[in-house]
Parts: sequence; C-alpha cells; structure tokens
Amino acid sequence: MSSLAEPIVDVGHEMHALIAELFPICRSITGDGLRETLRLLQRHVPLEIVEVASGSRVLDWTVPKEWNIRDAWIANSKGERVVDFRDSNLHVVSYSVPVRAAMSLAELRPRLHTIPEHPDWIPYRTSYYAESWGFCLSQRALDALPDDTYEVCIDSSLAPGYLTYGEYVLDGTTDDEVLVSCHCCHPSLANDNLSGIAVAVELARQLKTRADELRYTYRFLFIPGTIGSITWLARNREAASRIRHGLVLSCLGDAGLLTYKRSRRGDALVDRAAQHVLERLFASDRVRDFVPYGYDERQYCSPGFNLAVGCLTRTPNSEYPEYHTSADDLELVRAESLAESLAACERILEVLEHDAVYLNLSPCGEPQLGRRGLYPSGGGHSSLPNYDMALLWVLSFSDGSHSLLDIAERAELEFGVVRRAAADLAEHQLLRLASA
Ligand code: ZN
Repeated sequence: MSSLAEPIVDVGHEMHALIAELFPICRSITGDGLRETLRLLQRHVPLEIVEVASGSRVLDWTVPKEWNIRDAWIANSKGERVVDFRDSNLHVVSYSVPVRAAMSLAELRPRLHTIPEHPDWIPYRTSYYAESWGFCLSQRALDALPDDTYEVCIDSSLAPGYLTYGEYVLDGTTDDEVLVSCHCCHPSLANDNLSGIAVAVELARQLKTRADELRYTYRFLFIPGTIGSITWLARNREAASRIRHGLVLSCLGDAGLLTYKRSRRGDALVDRAAQHVLERLFASDRVRDFVPYGYDERQYCSPGFNLAVGCLTRTPNSEYPEYHTSADDLELVRAESLAESLAACERILEVLEHDAVYLNLSPCGEPQLGRRGLYPSGGGHSSLPNYDMALLWVLSFSDGSHSLLDIAERAELEFGVVRRAAADLAEHQLLRLASA
C-alpha cells in the first residue's frame, strides 16, 4: 500500500491524462465508442473484451440493439450547422434513431433539450429503451435560433450487434473474490464514468505488481451501466457466488469529500472498512446507507444476489450541478482528487486483505515487550504513530473473538498501525491466526 505521505500526485496526473485521452470518444451502452474505450484500456490492463449478442436474454432484460453514430447536425436554411455533433458528442441524445428531415423551429422545438438554469451548459440525455431522437444544446444557443426551416440529420444506426464489456481477473492466493466495477457508457463526461475508469485502471495496475501477496482474487469490470452489470450477473452466476467484497467506483475526481454508500447488507466488512478509512484517514463522515438507485451496486445488491458491494464516490451522482452536463469536463476533475480517491481504495483493500482474528499466545499478564525489542519505542516500526499502543491493544483483544478491524475501531487507531503491530507480534511468536 502506498503511504499517504508519499508523493501520490504524479499518479493523479497520469489518471488525469488517461481521462483526457478517453474524453472525446462517443461512448454509449453499446457500439464502437465503447469498444474503442476498452481497447485503449488494454494498453494499461490486459482486460478481456467480451461481446454479447443483441437479443440475448439477461435476467429480466434483453441485450439491446447496437447503436453507432457517425455524424449529426441541425443546419439553417443557409446550410450553416447551428448544432454540430463534431463540436460535442453531447449534442445528440444517446441512442437516437437515424433522422433526415426539414422542419420549422416550432416542429423541432420538442426535440431540443436545454438547461435553462445553466444557460451555457449542454445537457446529457439518453433514450436507450424507447426508440426516439433528439438534440441537446445550451439554452443560449437555442435562444439565438431564429424562425427558419432547419435541416436535421442524425447519421446513426441502431441494428442487431453486440453489447461489449471489459473484464480483468487478477488471481490471488484464494478463489474468494473482490469485485471492482465501473461504468464506461457515457460520452464526453469526465467525472461521471471516466474518473471511475481511471481509478480502477490504476488500482488494477498497482495490485498486479504485487499479485503474489494478494489474499483475494480481484475481478475488474468495465461495463455499460445497468445493462452491463445485469448481463455480467446473468452469465457469471458461479463467479458471482465467489464475490466476498466489492466496490463500485464513480465520480472520483471532483473536489468534494469522499462518500461511501453501504451495501444493501449494511454491515458487511467492506462497509466497515470503508467507514473506518474515510473517517480516520480522509476526514470524511459521508457514509450513507444503501438506497436502490445509483450505479451498478443496485444490481449486485439486488436481493437475489445481495453481494457485499458498496459504492465509492466523492460528490455523489446528481448532487453536483455539473452532473450529466457539458460542465462535467476535464477541469472539474483534479489530479489531487483522483490520487486521493485511489489512496482511499487502496486503504479499503488493505483492510479487506489483512483483517483477521488472532490469538494471544502469552495471555497471562502482559508479555515483556522490551526484552523482545518491541517496546518501548526505538525499533524500526515504532515511527508509526501510536505503534506502542497498538501492540497493547492487539495483545489485549486477540482472544479469538475480535478481528484487527474490531480492535482498530475500539482503540480508535488506524487499521494500518494495528495490522503492523499484529504482524510484529506474530513474528515474535506472541500471536497466531485464530483460524490457522
Ligand atoms: Zn451518469
């Protein structure tokens, strides 16, 4: 685990650069923009790209037709493009059916979406499951349109094809799994979708460098929202049954405080780990109970699966004004926030990897730590704050019924120092794993 004291901003800039590279691509829940995104991620993580045919039954859903778009515009009677997909892929309602028509402004008006309270921003709209079409533009651009006859073109296709997702499995020493899932179905939106992708990619890269130390097998999913997790769950019941803990990652690049949304279970280890890490290391008390809307945790936590999967964000979806607008751009997402979000993920995984119940092997009276070079301070590990206290807490509560996280919470110490103390006590034969 990288220490928070280390310079971690460089990795934040790398994540920001990846977001900038992905930003222009027109993604949707299917299609070539999604494929291009996943292929680009393969340069960083050896993920497998999975294609599932349109029409496939997945749980209570059906994989939709594949949508692709080449161009779209609204042109005035002089032939000038007044709305142009090439300027922003948000201009077209995602999944718009192909259109070629000449219309008056009054006829066109119901197809035009704006945000009156933010007159310079373009909204992000979709119409995945009802065949429709439309354009999004700033209120200012709409207000500037005179009465005229407009030529409307959406050069798209909606046809049988595939739903595409990316999957990367990093084998640990057990078959028990940790799931890390992020959606990658939004076009040019930086915080909502790209920040989660960038943090997941960097997390995968870092875990890969120490795969031989990992207790859990890690499964990373890069999927279109809702239909992607439903498709994965439908096709992977066996793997789903091995998921012990999981995180959905999204909205991790803005300047807001970290926020954790608990799994539906509410008291899973990942829920306690995330709360511990946010409160003790990131000064955030924003831990919330599960609600059945949000991102793909809705599917992972549906009662038939009820997986221990929570959702980590900074400012949650729909709680920042730029959400689902053109203002969710490369400036909203900051390298420092991305780096801090990555560090939070690593610290949560540290708890999952290392939480365990130990037994004190010298429980009658305190063992003499000084004789063993463990206490008082002076050794290599004692530079960790509260290390001496952690030794005493771990010895006192390692009675076979308290885990290291239980002890850290009760002692109000960071999990990292408690874990270090336990490892040192075990090395000196004062402690052993209760279940080993
Ligand atoms: Zn979204």
